[in-house]
Amino acid sequence: MDDIRNALLAERARLTAELRENRIEAPGMMTYGSQAAAASQVFEQQRDLALREHNEGQLDHIDAALARIAAGTYGVCTSCHLRIGAERLEALPTAALCIDCQRIAGAARRR
Ligand SMILES: [Zn+2]
Repeated sequence: MDDIRNALLAERARLTAELRENRIEAPGMMTYGSQAAAASQVFEQQRDLALREHNEGQLDHIDAALARIAAGTYGVCTSCHLRIGAERLEALPTAALCIDCQRIAGAARRR
């Protein structure tokens, strides 16, 4: 369990550092040389923003997983309360749902 905790803490530190480096420039700071430059700058900004949102989402997942470790409920599905498979946790240490509940949640989201 300590290994998982350490891995999560390391990943958390990495994401936090990445978010700090990835500050998005204020629109006023942009210097458009041409339409193409403007377009690519907007594209890059959107990509950075998407990355940032992804990282922030990951941080939330990591914090939630660390909270579950602290509470002693790590590895237990938050929906059906059955144990999450070891292979699943290995592949996705922040998993809060077992594979079955995840599938149901994913299907619900797509609707
Ligand atoms: Zn479940």
